[in-house]
Amino acid sequence: MAIRVYEYGCGLGQIEGLEMALDKMRRRIDFWNRLVEIDNDVRARMDELLFAGERETELSSLRERLRTLLRSGSNVRSREAGGDVDKKSTAADELRSAIRAQLNDVKRVRKENAARHRGRLRQLDSERKCRIAEVQATAGLYWANRDEIRRKYEVARVRAMQQGRRLRPQPWNETGRIKVQFQRGLPVPKAFLQNGRLQIDPVPESAFQSPRFERRRLTRTRIRIRVNANEDRSPVWLTVPAVMHRPLPPGGSIRGVSFVRERIGLGFRHRVLFTVSELAFPDSSKPDKAVGVDLGWRLTTDGLRVAYWAGADGKRGELVLPTSDLTEFKRVGNLQATIVAAHEQARALVTAFRTRHAVPDELQDLMHEAEGSSAPGALLHLFEEWKTHRFAGDRYVFTKLRAWHKQYVHLWTWQANLRDQLLRRRRELYRRFAASLAERYGKIFVNDIPLRSLAVKPPETERIIPIQRQHRFIAAISILHRILQNACEKRGALLKRLKCEHATISCHLCGAVDAWNPRTSLNHRCSKCGRSWDQDYNAAMHALKTGMTLAAGVRA
Ligand SMILES: [Zn+2]
Repeated sequence: MAIRVYEYGCGLGQIEGLEMALDKMRRRIDFWNRLVEIDNDVRARMDELLFAGERETELSSLRERLRTLLRSGSNVRSREAGGDVDKKSTAADELRSAIRAQLNDVKRVRKENAARHRGRLRQLDSERKCRIAEVQATAGLYWANRDEIRRKYEVARVRAMQQGRRLRPQPWNETGRIKVQFQRGLPVPKAFLQNGRLQIDPVPESAFQSPRFERRRLTRTRIRIRVNANEDRSPVWLTVPAVMHRPLPPGGSIRGVSFVRERIGLGFRHRVLFTVSELAFPDSSKPDKAVGVDLGWRLTTDGLRVAYWAGADGKRGELVLPTSDLTEFKRVGNLQATIVAAHEQARALVTAFRTRHAVPDELQDLMHEAEGSSAPGALLHLFEEWKTHRFAGDRYVFTKLRAWHKQYVHLWTWQANLRDQLLRRRRELYRRFAASLAERYGKIFVNDIPLRSLAVKPPETERIIPIQRQHRFIAAISILHRILQNACEKRGALLKRLKCEHATISCHLCGAVDAWNPRTSLNHRCSKCGRSWDQDYNAAMHALKTGMTLAAGVRA
């Protein structure tokens, strides 16, 4: 059995029952926040019992030093990074080993404390479970939604404990998801009939075969999802107009349906996701064909190279984000820079005004906040209040603020839409690449890269990102890796991450390790065998060779 997700965008027309859906989304967040509150309270009391004294203080200061060091610049394997990376990584390694030693100490003492207070700890944990049960009973959520949050909490809780941090509450921003679930599965054909939890208006079979321009019209449908019940227990529906651009698999079984609401710019986007279990696809038609893939970003004359592959059949190729897309991504960055600059200017204006004029009481706190906050939210808030509290002498600065507001809304919407468009285009490109590799090859070997450090989103604190770092976010290698993984699962191909020693610098043809700086040139001529190669191709060949050796070893 394979579990697959089918995603449909919200089409034209009104969503009915959205208010109710929003109410449930808010309840999900409330529920989460109450779980977080209970968890943090209990954790704090447990920590008092377990606390290992000075050792812990020392450990957190070591961790802080490492964080500061890593934050002082790019620390990931970037092909574009400068030369001081090595020096920094030595210092980081030293800190890491100090942390490990200290951590072992802390763990030992904590274990002793845990043994000493075992009874009290058990009591605290059962208190936690009781309080959760109480909160759960009054959450006002269907079990599918409740269980989803509960599961998310259990996972997050364990991870937070391992990482020594606390869970964080979530703000309500009118986004989220709601879910219905079919524990034993709902056969796809039944979703098109009367059903208590899910109903889809039938889409004619012929619609999916019709030409592209007609398909969009013919595959319009309405999806009804139960969000609540009336007094007589009849369902209250959320009705979503949707475009079913590809059919649900007739033999599949629906496990769950989610309605998702996200913020795009100043508006919202709605999607419906079906989780469907199907009989697994047969194994890839070429189970023995292998390919090596090197993931990583590099600027070339054609654009941003994000992957290079080399097959055992002698074929090879690269995946490149075209220059035109890079330009667009940079435009997103420029828009952001403009937004930031305009905001700073407006802030300065408000400060200058306040030092010379008296301000009504109603606005004073908001103004103070707006001046101190680097996020535009506070200034937006001030502007909204100011509109209803105009006063003598504010004309000039208010007009300026209004102009800022107008420009901000315009730029922000533009930027958000552009980014959304670009991200979708990139996903499509990655998806096609992954599909074609997984169809052609049954074994895909990927150079091991630290995916976790290849963060997808820039940290919130950095509002303008230097161009080299931008490339890392634009390439989004971890997303490419995940898409590749999905494609392989779907087609029964094997995906394996491998550690290859000296993958960038040793010659895949003769094994010689030359002393050369791979950052200075893309191509390298091997000093031993005299042949030259593109270093990403070289890395892909290493992955292929290592993978094939490993596979042969397993078989023997
Ligand atoms: Zn060589």
